[in-house]
Amino acid sequence: MVERYTHESIRAQIEKREEKRPGERFLVIINPVSRGGKALKEGMWLLKELRNLKIDHEAFVTQNPGHATKIVERWVNSFDCVVAVGGDGTVNEVVNGIKYGGGEGKTFCAFPAGTADDYCHNVGIPRNRKGALNVLLYGRDRKIDLLRYDGKFAVVQLGVGVDAEIAYRTLSRKKIRIPAYFAVGLRIVFIERLKRSAKRLRIEGDNGVHEGSFLVAVFGNAPLYARYVYWMPEARMDDGIINMSAVGPMSPLPAWFLFLKCFNRDFRSERIIYDSGRKFKVYLKEESFIQVDGEVYKYRSGETISISIEPLALKVRVASEPWLEAPFISP
Ligand SMILES: [Mg+2]
Repeated sequence: MVERYTHESIRAQIEKREEKRPGERFLVIINPVSRGGKALKEGMWLLKELRNLKIDHEAFVTQNPGHATKIVERWVNSFDCVVAVGGDGTVNEVVNGIKYGGGEGKTFCAFPAGTADDYCHNVGIPRNRKGALNVLLYGRDRKIDLLRYDGKFAVVQLGVGVDAEIAYRTLSRKKIRIPAYFAVGLRIVFIERLKRSAKRLRIEGDNGVHEGSFLVAVFGNAPLYARYVYWMPEARMDDGIINMSAVGPMSPLPAWFLFLKCFNRDFRSERIIYDSGRKFKVYLKEESFIQVDGEVYKYRSGETISISIEPLALKVRVASEPWLEAPFISP
């Protein structure tokens, strides 16, 4: 772990770091509204640490949705490593900025300050400040795949159906996001008719077609989703494959139990349709919410979404300690 508070330990850290990555420059993007407004404090802590360690960096605080992408696109090539301080939405925006700005070979790193922090969980970046800083300074660089859709990139997953509806309806309750997810989820499942939330879709993949009503269909690159749910247990982040997990209409109680059982990493169910491939095409037969790394978009009936994979498209910094080793990226 990073030691602090003495001149000797700070000097030792500076030397260790200079030996490992001499002159590395960081671009730090802070989304102040992440984690119900607490992300700014996390960002300020990080900047203070970087200053103490005399690490070359510039920081931006974003002002509105899409701002992070614009900043990174403009500046990525003046830095070696771009750090997203925020949640999965911020991770998504920063990664899109790196790709649009032609930042090939630049390293992406996340400093977790969101609600779910699915990206960080999947790559083994700890949620505590010091652990995350340790990864930022001394972690190792690997490459992961990105999902591509509508000319944009998704880092962890893209979902159609009730998960996107829950995300949409909790947007106004930023400060109580995780309890709000459960409250809205329970409400949709038990009070409103769950079947009404199912969407009519036609999903074309490399292995065939799935057609009918779906409560949820998620396309992803990593197993862990919504912080606790191993929804795509086979997914790996660097295998060149998109995994899909979908569920048809279900009665409320079995649906809720199925959801809870997915907290177990080894759980598989016959009720879940698993598929995988290099591309998927989703035809929306009715108006649907789509969530991409937790951010929600509304699509009209008749629209299609083409999802493809861009293998090893992003260099990322992950933990180097064996016990934090990113479990879903091959060694
Ligand atoms: Mg994959």
